[in-house]
Amino acid sequence: METISKIMKAAHEDIGDHELALINKLTLVPLEKEQVFTFKVTACDSGEDDRNFEPLTAECISQLAKMYVGKPVIKNHDLRDVDGTLARVYAAEAVKENGLQSLVMHCYMPRTAKNEDLIAEINAGIKSEVSVDFRAGKTRCGICGASKLCSHIPGYKYDADGEKKTCLRYIEECAEVYELSFVTVGAQPRAGTRKSLDERKKRKLQLMLEIIKTEVENNDGI
Ligand SMILES: [Zn+2]
Repeated sequence: METISKIMKAAHEDIGDHELALINKLTLVPLEKEQVFTFKVTACDSGEDDRNFEPLTAECISQLAKMYVGKPVIKNHDLRDVDGTLARVYAAEAVKENGLQSLVMHCYMPRTAKNEDLIAEINAGIKSEVSVDFRAGKTRCGICGASKLCSHIPGYKYDADGEKKTCLRYIEECAEVYELSFVTVGAQPRAGTRKSLDERKKRKLQLMLEIIKTEVENNDGI
């Protein structure tokens, strides 16, 4: 299963003693409020209007909230850059809003000279797009309910209950969480949908291979 990326926004937030205590659980020496810059990210929600046709269930969002604490915030999902960790997630929660479950993450970074530009960019709303990156575990087909590979391709329409229904692949569980990234959406205007096209092509190919394999088996290898 490939990794899932969803793009949402980040904004500065002030913190109290409780939040500082959570941050200091992750630092080697205790920091003061003045030494840290904190920001909040509404990372994703359980809405079914997901552009990748892979909506997250409310249970998966609750699971992500537990798994994201302590994870790094980097740039453009580039895990190879060892100097690329900009901040860290110190708390995360699943919040109910308008009938949806949203994943809200709280992040901190030290107020160093090196981070001044980034802090100014976040405050100015220039650096605001972020993207979560994790590996999906259990998924479910919205057409037939299968948790394994089935013939339905997310984003395609199928006859179901007498009407045309777009196939959604629900992500019910998260297997592994990697990082949260600042991304340049402007340079990748189709970043949110490109993955789905690749995924759909891949699933089509997988399906064709399955059909060929079944044909070969049914014909004694001919
Ligand atoms: Zn299916």
